[in-house]
Amino acid sequence: MKIVLQAGHENIKNNCDTALRGSTGAGGEVEINIAVRNTTAELLEKAGVNVKKVDANFNCEKTSADEDYDLFLAIHCDMDYPDDKGSGFCDFPEPSTDGATERSQYLAKTIQDYFFPAVGINIKSRSNANTRYFYMWKHLSLKTPCVLIEMGQVKDAHDSVILKDTEKVSKALANAILQALGLQDEKDLKIEKLQKELDEMRESRNDWRTRYKQLEKEYEKEVQELRIHRDLLQKDLSEANARIEVLEKAIMTNKTPLSAYSIKERFQSIVHSLLNGGDFNA
Ligand SMILES: [Zn+2]
Repeated sequence: MKIVLQAGHENIKNNCDTALRGSTGAGGEVEINIAVRNTTAELLEKAGVNVKKVDANFNCEKTSADEDYDLFLAIHCDMDYPDDKGSGFCDFPEPSTDGATERSQYLAKTIQDYFFPAVGINIKSRSNANTRYFYMWKHLSLKTPCVLIEMGQVKDAHDSVILKDTEKVSKALANAILQALGLQDEKDLKIEKLQKELDEMRESRNDWRTRYKQLEKEYEKEVQELRIHRDLLQKDLSEANARIEVLEKAIMTNKTPLSAYSIKERFQSIVHSLLNGGDFNA
């Protein structure tokens, strides 16, 4: 499997075709095209794809059409349509000029359908003469399927933020290419799906954890309040017990005038005065 990735506008000022030299792209575009081409190539090579990285001047190489590639992809992001909230699309050569049009169309659609949702950029086809009759198409072999991707709008407020994250964009593009080439098998797709489910479950678990902690805190507060209340009741109870004890003691030691002890004392005092010849009533 061998493909070509072309960074749009790279070195175009030196193109052998002087008519192309002015096609320098939108401000900031070429840097993104180059970064995405390089990182995407790296990722694809790790997945076992042979990648030829070329600049905008591949049309000047006499051998450009000598080899049949599995895909030639031109990378761009220079459209600018104000107030459309950003968008991109994939295009393929005008079918009557393309010896591999079926394959070109299939690859364009598969890459488009995977890439744009993955990065979060809208799909809106702006197919035009520049994409359908792109200058590179006639410099490639008839059997080489060709796709041009407008990844988004570098001047658009929404798209530019995404496009500047070239790591994310490259990952999406590499996966889109792998899927289009049939190299991302079902096992990988399943792993990806499971990973997503796992992430969602983790998120849900974290939500529950937070809720649980909240409830635990509320419960602890309630327990604390009940403890204080219980301590107050215990204090009341022991105070009441102490009062009962005092009252019981008072009852036990209470001396009324008619208690056994005072009668005996009175009697002894009367006997004592009688014995001493005193007045009984004294
Ligand atoms: Zn461009």
